[in-house]
Amino acid sequence: MNRRTGDYKVAPSLSVCIDQIRHRLRDHGAMPCHEHRVLRLWSNALSQDSGKRKPQDFLPLGVRAELPAIEADLAGLARLLSEHPGADGSARLLVGLHDGQTVEAVLLPRDGVCVSTQVGCAVGCVFCMTGQGGLLRQLGSAEIVAQVALARTRRVVKKVVFMGMGEPAHNLDNVMDAIDLLGFEGGIGHKNLVFSTVGDRRVFERLPLGAVKPALALSLHSTNAARRAQLLPRAPAIEPDELVELGERYAHASGYPVQVQWTLLAGINDGDDELDGIVRLLAGKRAILNMIPYNTVDGLDFQRPSAERAREIAQTLHRRGVLTKLRQSAGQDVDGGCGQLRARTVSVAAGSTDLPRPVLWRERAPSLSTPS
Ligand code: SF4
Repeated sequence: MNRRTGDYKVAPSLSVCIDQIRHRLRDHGAMPCHEHRVLRLWSNALSQDSGKRKPQDFLPLGVRAELPAIEADLAGLARLLSEHPGADGSARLLVGLHDGQTVEAVLLPRDGVCVSTQVGCAVGCVFCMTGQGGLLRQLGSAEIVAQVALARTRRVVKKVVFMGMGEPAHNLDNVMDAIDLLGFEGGIGHKNLVFSTVGDRRVFERLPLGAVKPALALSLHSTNAARRAQLLPRAPAIEPDELVELGERYAHASGYPVQVQWTLLAGINDGDDELDGIVRLLAGKRAILNMIPYNTVDGLDFQRPSAERAREIAQTLHRRGVLTKLRQSAGQDVDGGCGQLRARTVSVAAGSTDLPRPVLWRERAPSLSTPS
């Protein structure tokens, strides 16, 4: 990590960005309207032959000649390696990337999908399997959108949450580019794009300036700064009070309440001191508290509180003026913690996806979104 800027630098990027797709189309004679069509159909998981106007009626000859190869390369950005349905209507997807890496995406009940933004994660939350392996590489903006396109081949998708593997703030350019494309060409309502972060000042500067303003989710997990630093060891050092204040300011700017995420860990952040802290920070604020009892992860020594205690916490907070929702992590019966599915299958997946890189992604050096 660059200690001055707080940015993360990883090995030369294999990530694939939307700009590379645009450049390739332009190299073959595309105008902005042609780019728009190709990206719209792709992000909606529709064939490039779809629609009343066929490619031969609309696209330049050069683009038409290149289209089958482009379509094949786009399909290779996020391939389904395995699907694991949960009892709650969700399904975990193990997604293969073009370089053999894998990430997880989750089809959520009620037309949502949760996507990954990085392979691995540098924040190192002590209760998270993904955080144990560190950051392997950034996902390019096109690889993030490709997870949505893949999800749309399985189900209707009207909501996208950036809460899978990775910390979106550490890959900000790519995530914001993906949000723009999904909010325009991808047809997702802007408030149904949910940017999740452990808290980073660049997020609060950047989000209000975007053409598409997503909803914001803050991973708080503790109102005690020292405890939070232990749980999220490499999150930026912002006091919980300030974090909530920054989140609320954005909530007023965007018009949507800030969603505060709280993984409920027995004996750690489920005590009365934390309930008092939550009331102090959130009562009467434009915020929704999502309490998610912890999913047990093999090898990590954390437990969820009893269902009775979790219910009691949610009711107490509600009574004390905090809009609280007690939620279950989607698909918790199928290696439900973020990163568990990948961790269990990574060696098999890596061995089965040793494919040559498509021409498109070799042509241009991808732009790194995190300066050193
Ligand atoms: S919980 Fe999220 S931010 Fe924390 S290590 Fe896991 S993926 Fe990263």
